[in-house]
Amino acid sequence: MEQINLTPVRDTLSADVLVIGGGPAGMCAAIAAAREGVSVLLVEQGGCLGGSATRGLVGPFMTCYDRKGETMIIRGLFEEIVDRMVARGCALHPSAVRAGTGFTSWIVVGHDHVTPFEPEGLKRLMDDMMEEAGVKVLFHTDFLQPVMEGETLTGAVVSSKRGIEIVRGRVLIDCTGDGDVAARAGVPFEMGNEALGLIQPATMFFHICGVDAAALEADIQANLHNFYRKDGVNYRSLHWRVSEARAQGDWPLQRVSIGLFRMPQPDEWCVNTSRIMGVDSTDNESLTAAEVEGRRQAEIIMQFLNKYVPGCQNARLKSTATYVGIRESRHIRGDYRLTAQDLISAQVPEDSILLAANSVDVHGRFGPTSNEYTPIEGDYYGIPYRCLLPIGVENLLLAGRCVSADSTAAGAIRVMPPCMGMGQAAGTAAALAIRQGVTPRQLDAQFLRRRLLENKAYL
Ligand SMILES: Cc1cc2nc3c(=O)[nH]c(=O)nc-3n(C[C@H](O)[C@H](O)[C@H](O)COP(=O)(O)OP(=O)(O)OC[C@H]3O[C@@H](n4cnc5c(N)ncnc54)[C@H](O)[C@@H]3O)c2cc1C
Repeated sequence: MEQINLTPVRDTLSADVLVIGGGPAGMCAAIAAAREGVSVLLVEQGGCLGGSATRGLVGPFMTCYDRKGETMIIRGLFEEIVDRMVARGCALHPSAVRAGTGFTSWIVVGHDHVTPFEPEGLKRLMDDMMEEAGVKVLFHTDFLQPVMEGETLTGAVVSSKRGIEIVRGRVLIDCTGDGDVAARAGVPFEMGNEALGLIQPATMFFHICGVDAAALEADIQANLHNFYRKDGVNYRSLHWRVSEARAQGDWPLQRVSIGLFRMPQPDEWCVNTSRIMGVDSTDNESLTAAEVEGRRQAEIIMQFLNKYVPGCQNARLKSTATYVGIRESRHIRGDYRLTAQDLISAQVPEDSILLAANSVDVHGRFGPTSNEYTPIEGDYYGIPYRCLLPIGVENLLLAGRCVSADSTAAGAIRVMPPCMGMGQAAGTAAALAIRQGVTPRQLDAQFLRRRLLENKAYL
């Protein structure tokens, strides 16, 4: 009889930098570190890179421009990935993608210059870029717990079909989205918005094909006067069709509109509409229920599209996401906690490793139809290096959705371009720290910024 061996089966894999999680943040962290000449091992529980961008079917990449839509400000590795996807025909360059079109679900404010892309193209590009950079990738491997010597991380216990094993790293980067590494290393965190006792809802993304884009666009244009705008933002495309369906008893969901985002191929669209309240992504029972509910809602929305939406009569469900989309879970506490006010008042701290202008846009916290949107007052804000440094633990960096920010600020910087920029910064910082023989916390942030600038970041 085969038995599970709970003692590690091997302790032979090691690298200078150990990246846990290969989503938008992790893939950029791994490439950036490897390009600095250190060895990198990336551990990912799925079978491809990209996380929410590939297995999660989330798209488009939200804006990488300043608030006025004039200058591309998230550059560096993000821009290289976009350029290479455009060259392969699997993304549209954001410079050519404007707000108020099908690519933004006809939303205007905060949505200029998004990047529509094909998840399959991103998967392939990431395989190639990991190979080029010399990153060793371990798919189908789950992070279980950190290996620590006092307050210093030295590796991770991971699990796969091989069994449990230890992988070693001199610096670890937590790119799990949920902050699994930091939380299990004892770093304090906030789950959602603890003061309000609320968390943003989850969404099951799905892609559809066979859409007659011209007929759909004609219906939108004929009803543009019907769009409901709040603070200049349209959250209710197709709400006239939802109202019709509701009147016919065909709309049991609480949503009042549809988020329908055109992809590079005109007949393929990405649907961001289901809402699942109160999901805890660190709890497998909660996640399981959310997946089932998400697919149930996707089926209802698909039937609605076929019956009520011009241009979608012959559309087909291409795929639901491999896993439900999680907007919010743990916000790990770092040396600095970014606040929504920092973003709105367009603060650019001296140790900023990234500039971004994504709006403070909190979805559905108070119910499936709620939206809290606050425009920023300047052209962009900075994300400080200190937000990537978890308190109380050495040799660990954070990047992506789990970085140190309050729940409302996280509602802005959690989108994929900033997550990719934070990944590049964390990977670069890890490698520079190793090369200098210091901890990431001891690394001079100005030195890091200079290196990021040399690597085409915009600071
Ligand atoms: C409903 C919804 C709509 C969104 N809309 C947009 C949008 O339109 N545009 C946009 O730019 N952004 C959007 N986002 C935000 C964006 O998709 C995520 O916030 C972003 O992908 C986070 O990147 P990340 O790398 O931090 O995490 P993730 O994308 O979640 O990647 C984390 C990776 O870590 C892996 N992992 C997790 N735990 C472990 C573990 N224990 N062991 C090993 N591997 C692990 C996962 O498999 C995954 O590959 C949306 C998100 C949601 C949920």
